[in-house]
Amino acid sequence: MSNSANISQPIYRIRVAVPVYLYDCFDYSLSQEQYQHAQVGARVAVSFGRQNLTGIIVEKIAPDAPLDSSFKLKAITELLDDQAILDEKVLSLLTWSAQYYQFPVGEVMQSALPTLLRQGKPYNLLARTWNLIDHNAEAKIKRSERQQEAYKILKLHPTGTGENLLNLSGVETVTLKALEKKGICECVLAEQDFSPMPMSMAQMPLTANPDQKKAIDTVLKARKKYQAFLLDGLTGSGKTEVYLQIMQEVLKQGKQVLVLVPEIGLTPQTISRFQSRFHCNIALLHSGLNDSKRMQAWQAAQTGKASIILGTRSAIYTPLPNLGLIVLDEEHDLSFKQQEGFRYHARDVALFRGHLEQCPVILGSATPSIECYALAKQGKMTILELNQRAGTAVMPKMHILDLKVAQKQHGISQLLIGEIRKRLEKKEQVLVFLNRRGYAPVLICESCAWQAKCPHCDANFTVHRTPYQHLHCHHCGTIHRMPDHCPQCNHQELKSIGMGTAKVEESLNELFPEHEVIRVDRDSTSRVGSWQKIYDKIQKSEPAILLGTQMLAKGHHFPYVTLVAILDIDSGLLSVDFRAIERTAQLIVQVTGRAGRGERKGDVFLQTLRPEHPLLNTLVNEDYRKFAQETMKEREMALMPPFRYAALIRCESKDQQVNTDFLQQHAQQLRQDSDNIIDIWGPIPAPMERKAGRYQAHMVLLSQDRARLHYYLRYWWQNLLHNKPSNMKLSLDIDPQELS
Ligand code: ADP
Ligand code: ZN
Ligand code: ZN
Repeated sequence: MSNSANISQPIYRIRVAVPVYLYDCFDYSLSQEQYQHAQVGARVAVSFGRQNLTGIIVEKIAPDAPLDSSFKLKAITELLDDQAILDEKVLSLLTWSAQYYQFPVGEVMQSALPTLLRQGKPYNLLARTWNLIDHNAEAKIKRSERQQEAYKILKLHPTGTGENLLNLSGVETVTLKALEKKGICECVLAEQDFSPMPMSMAQMPLTANPDQKKAIDTVLKARKKYQAFLLDGLTGSGKTEVYLQIMQEVLKQGKQVLVLVPEIGLTPQTISRFQSRFHCNIALLHSGLNDSKRMQAWQAAQTGKASIILGTRSAIYTPLPNLGLIVLDEEHDLSFKQQEGFRYHARDVALFRGHLEQCPVILGSATPSIECYALAKQGKMTILELNQRAGTAVMPKMHILDLKVAQKQHGISQLLIGEIRKRLEKKEQVLVFLNRRGYAPVLICESCAWQAKCPHCDANFTVHRTPYQHLHCHHCGTIHRMPDHCPQCNHQELKSIGMGTAKVEESLNELFPEHEVIRVDRDSTSRVGSWQKIYDKIQKSEPAILLGTQMLAKGHHFPYVTLVAILDIDSGLLSVDFRAIERTAQLIVQVTGRAGRGERKGDVFLQTLRPEHPLLNTLVNEDYRKFAQETMKEREMALMPPFRYAALIRCESKDQQVNTDFLQQHAQQLRQDSDNIIDIWGPIPAPMERKAGRYQAHMVLLSQDRARLHYYLRYWWQNLLHNKPSNMKLSLDIDPQELS
């Protein structure tokens, strides 16, 4: 209702997205002068309840618009920015995301801001900058190569160099601090320097092969409008070269390019590949940056000063005034989906962003997701195929080893051991893949069959031997000491069953004592810099065994690996998740792709108890594309995603009965309201029913009509949140990737 007093007296109000778990935006009043300065997309400090929060202005309400007089407006605390820091397009992208994923818009907007801005810190472009003060310091640094390198770079920039640029060119902050101690340079806060670093080793574009050329030309033709492309190319077929050549043309037009890579794909190797090709400012956005570095990189992107933005998942929400191309590499990778809180999929958001910005989007993979193939089939995506390995390398040959009949030693078939030995003797490298870290997945009593289980989860403890003997639950993190006898029957012998990477490491050391075993998993690479050391070793042409989990499977280039041994993928073949088979196939092909990337041909050996599995046979005898076509047909027949749209409700509390009763009752409501266009599965106990002492239940909603599914879901879901008991946790996952 409008208040008549307000007609003569304008009321200055803005609508603010406040970071709270509520679905609305909130109106605040401000003075006329503040109103004139307020910008949509700028930050504002407000009080909310008893909290002081940083919100984003999403609307300036017309001063003469009617006001609900029953509601008392609060005044803002302060305008934080005199200009918008989120531009119109990013605001639309965020608003769309909040609606699509049904997550509170205030929270969603926060995910677009670097931490410092989220905390209300001032937006300025000051940055740590290093100046050289001693220009004749050669004698002081004779003993340190790193210091000499840093000194050389500092000398090239008489007016000072930003610390983030120095870091990007390989100069570490500790080295700069060491120079500072010797009085050679000093650190000051200065206006950020956005000039590109000089290139150390410029690399020219390679001559594209016919497949690459066709892909490049097709994308460039669509340069000024939205079109989605799937670059479907074997591992090592030169996808990156295709991105680089397309980027070159887009950069020439003065446009920005956003490149998204999986979490662990952002290696120094990837970065240097971009750096050595383009003389421009590259902003790096990933989770390993400290707050101020992240803010600087974000500002370089947001002001348009950075031409290439290389980042992981969340970089999709970076404001970019001149965006001309989005590249998303390893499109099938699960790390593009955020699995908690605001559960978005960067791939799908990237497609929508391309549409908003009217620029092409290239998704690349050697193992495209069924989703992308389905989009292509519907004509929403153009497939570009690369069918040969670039250069002289050829695809490796795959062999299946039947573990049921094989002679084994330490769980590895004798034949495979022989093959490994042959490669090592030829001074080649071998990659052994096992997607299970720790020593052994099961500890069992030989007398009464007792198994060591986590007291809080429906899961076995994993046995670890380093840094000391202990039991570790990989689901909730609980650590127990290793029992020395069976707690059930007092028997003295407890046996570790099955193998994890730590046990295989032990076995390989025993089998090949004269060769180095390099283990790569989360336990061995948790220390800063350890990954780089491992990487340096791998790049030397010396015989070695690389042993690791899926960290080794992704995108890396190991030119000396000629044999890949996959020790066990059977759990992936047996999983209940409808996507498990797809993921297993992707993993096999990606690991396989690490072999024979150099001059010599590669071989892959795959141990399994299920050699007759149709998936394995399609993969070995045909290829991934054939496998994907078959899987797509199966999904279509079963009406599973992407042939129906899904939403997953996860419910968690201390009592499973409470969970299922609650979901059951609301499911009934949804069934009635939605004219049967939604198929409701469950509620059922989650695949791991008890985790960290709490019970989990799931309910899956499926529909062929996405718009109506989302429409009915919206009211129903908010109602669900409103009615839930206070000790229950609920989450909604739109287009879930994992049903666990
Ligand atoms: P992908 O990204 O498809 O796995 P990469 O782009 O890493 O493949 O290319 C694999 C290797 O082939 C790299 O060493 C790359 O330099 C080389 N390469 C790519 N394109 C060509 C080309 N047109 N001619 C020669 N070598 C190439
Ligand atoms: Zn026992
Ligand atoms: Zn546990």
